[in-house]
Order: sequence, then structure tokens, then C-alpha cells
Amino acid sequence: HPWSRRRGHTVVSDDERTPVSTPGVLAVEIGTLPPIGVVPEKMHAQVVRQDRYGDPSAAFVPETVSTPRIGPGEVLVAVMAAGVNYNNVWAARGYPVDQIATRQKSGEPEDFHIGGSDASGIVYAVGDGVTDWQPGDHVVVHPGVWDEADPWITAGKDQMVAPSARIWGYDTNYGAFGQFTRAQAHQLMPKAEHLSWAEAAAPTLVGTTAYRMLHGWAGNTLQDGDLVLVWGGSGGLGTQASQLVAAAGGRAIAVVSGDDRGEYAMKYGAIGYLDRRKYDHWGIPPLVDDNEGQKAWSAGARAFGKDLWTIAGGREEPAIVFEHPGAATVPTSIFLCQPGGMVVICAGTTGFDAMVDLRYHWTRQKRLQGSHGTNDAQAYAYNDLVRAGKLDPVVGRVLPFAEIPRSHAEMGRGEEVFGNTVHLVGAADPTTGRS
Ligand code: NDP
Repeated sequence: HPWSRRRGHTVVSDDERTPVSTPGVLAVEIGTLPPIGVVPEKMHAQVVRQDRYGDPSAAFVPETVSTPRIGPGEVLVAVMAAGVNYNNVWAARGYPVDQIATRQKSGEPEDFHIGGSDASGIVYAVGDGVTDWQPGDHVVVHPGVWDEADPWITAGKDQMVAPSARIWGYDTNYGAFGQFTRAQAHQLMPKAEHLSWAEAAAPTLVGTTAYRMLHGWAGNTLQDGDLVLVWGGSGGLGTQASQLVAAAGGRAIAVVSGDDRGEYAMKYGAIGYLDRRKYDHWGIPPLVDDNEGQKAWSAGARAFGKDLWTIAGGREEPAIVFEHPGAATVPTSIFLCQPGGMVVICAGTTGFDAMVDLRYHWTRQKRLQGSHGTNDAQAYAYNDLVRAGKLDPVVGRVLPFAEIPRSHAEMGRGEEVFGNTVHLVGAADPTTGRS
């Protein structure tokens, strides 16, 4: 990886990787599996190439490619089901980052991208030094990838802040949209036995991200009884966030557009919801010397806050605001957040150029905290809650492997879908895998 190389520490380079396939074994059909440990030379995958970057409906094409090789510390997992996230809409567009060019510059030979940052599956092969996992283990994969020899990590600091940290199946090749995926052994976690393959593939990326946002930032971690405002309360992140808040004894109030979405949010842990379509103070507030404009903006934000108090049952500001819309909502989030509280943000879906009125920010001593991905400890803690049946994976729909281009095109157009979308890869139907 370019960062790692620049800093001069070791990574698994492609020439350290060796094939683990059995010569002469052909790719199996989608919906079937070879015997445990038998790795075909070729596999089916939904492949993105540079000459078709653009709309995901045409950028993803099913191809037969060589099964990935693995190196020290890596594992090969037969994918049973794969979850969909927005990051592979970007990968398909080749914008804002051309992932294929980026990887080639850092020495990876492939001229294609196989994405997918959520998977459930079965371990088929392990690389040198992997002792925790063996062929036949049922797993899910968390999306945090890094170089274990990164000095930041060997110093014991947060893995996901390390210069070598990346997102598997977006920054790395051979993600979940092929029959076999390559991951680092520490990314694997035991699959919840009560969930089907499809259910298990749904929540890990959004759930671990939400876990880090709520529990990862010392000084402002979620406490019993805390009030939390959750934007996009019926979405992938939001449904996990509200469930995590409820599981920790807090109270989540969701923001949504529409009653059907509000009811969906309440099904997954929110104590109530605000319909953002009833307010119009969104976006960047008027400049500080525009008194009238500022007054009008404050009136809008206060009306929103008053409705929040009604749901909370008294004058109470949220200790944590769970942010990802960005430009449209950050001014309101900061305005409403409790003094000493935290607005924690992991995306800027409505725009990256948000505005913060620093007068209130410093005098009320609020925190605006960026958050991205997950480290191992956070992912494992999240997965333990899933395995204990305390969190629902919130499966919206289960689609065939062939519809990976379509689901990404729909996501790219912003078409509203409740819950997480999952595609079947090795699993024959949406319910298999429960035990
Ligand atoms: P979803 O599409 O499932 O949910 C997003 C929600 O945002 C929608 O449900 C919608 O709810 C709400 N929304 C849309 N427009 C606005 C607006 N103008 N103002 C307020 N809310 C709005 O997406 P996810 O929850 O899966 O992901 C959200 C973002 O987080 C994406 O950009 C994603 O890429 C990013 N992300 C980042 C991660 C990281 O590690 N950094 C990890 C996971 C996701 P409604 O219309 O009901 O208000």
C-alpha cells in the first residue's frame, strides 16, 4: 500500500501470495459450493473495469476470474451472501477515487475491481501464521483492513486511525461480490448461529461503524439513559444506531422523512421520530451579519428542538447526535447538541461543506468528532451483541447474485429501500444457514 511503503513497513505483497486452488477444478455454479477445502481455479464474480466506470448497472459485469491467492495472515472465504453498501456505487463510478489505478500504483497487478464490504461465508483456506481459523468455520467479515506492522498499530494505538487502515472490498480487491473473498484473519468473526447466511451478511459494516461512533470516543461514549438524536433513523446506519442506543439503556430519537419511515425506525429501537419534511431551516445558515436571516434560521432550529423535547418528555438536549447527512444537517446537530456533548459524523451524503457557528461551538464546549470504519475490538463487541440476539440485522430485501448491478444502480439513484440489501452468492435461498 502506498502509505505503508512510504513509511517503510511490511505489507503482504502480491509475490508473497500463493495459489490455494486445486488444479483442474472448475468454477462451481452460483448457489452451490465445492467440498470444504477444495478451491476451484476459477470463480464467478461481479467485476468492475476502468473502461466501463459509470452507472453501476453497466459497470458491474459477471465474469469468470482466477480465484485469489492468499499470503501470510490472510484467509480465503467462500462467500455465502454479500451485503450492499454505498461505497461500491463509488467504486463502480470510478469516482471520487479510481480504485483500480490506485491499487496498480501500489504494486497490485489486477486491472479490475471486485468489491463488496459485507459477507457471510465459510473458511476454505488459511495463510501462514493463521491459527485462529480453519477450513469449515462459519464467519462474517468486518471491513477494517490494516498492516499489523504499521508503527501506529505496534504502538498500541487505534488500528482504524493508522496510516495503513483501509476498507476491505472498497480499497482492497476481492471483496464479497465473488464466490471467494480474500480477507485478513483478524477481520473474521464467528457468524451468529441463529441467523441465515443472508441475514448474517446484512449488518456488519453499518453496525460496526455505528458501534464505533457511539462507543468509541472516550469522554463522550454512550451512557445509560443518554438521549441520542439519530439522523436517517430508518436507514442502514440509523437502524443499527437506535438498536445500539436501546441496548445500552439510552433513548434514541430518529429523524426521518415520512411516517412509514418513522414507524420503521421505532420498530428498531427509536422511542419516537421527527419528520424532517415539516421544517425548512436545512443547509448552511445565513451569515452572522444577516440578523433577520439568523433569527429565522434559529426559529426553525428551535421549533425542531422543541418537538424533540416533546418526544423526550422534557427540556433535554441530546448527549450524542449521530450524523451522516452532513451539509444539510450539521448546523442543526451542533445547535441541538448538549453542552459538553458530541456530534459524531461518518459521512457527508448531502454535501461535504458543512457550516459550524464557532461562537456556540466553543462557548458551549461541544465536540464535532469524525468517525470511520471499525477497529477489531469494536467489531468483536458489536458482533457479540448480534450473536446474543440483541440486535436485528435489518434485512430489507434478499436478491440474486445476478442483480448486484441493479441494486447498486438503484442505490446510486437514491431510490428508497428500507433496511439492508443482500445478494445470495453460495447460499441457495434466503433462509439457509440458521442452526
Ligand atoms: P441509507 O441510505 O440506508 O440511509 C441514509 C438516510 O439518510 C436515509 O434513510 C434518509 O432518511 C437520510 N437522508 C437522506 N437525505 C437526507 C437529508 N437531506 N437530510 C437528512 N437526512 C437525509 O444509508 P446508510 O445509513 O447505509 O449510510 C449513510 C451514509 O453513511 C452514506 O453516505 C454511507 O456511505 C456512509 N457510511 C459511512 C461509513 C464509514 O465508515 N465512514 C460506514 C457506513 C456508511 P430520511 O429520508 O428518512 O430522513
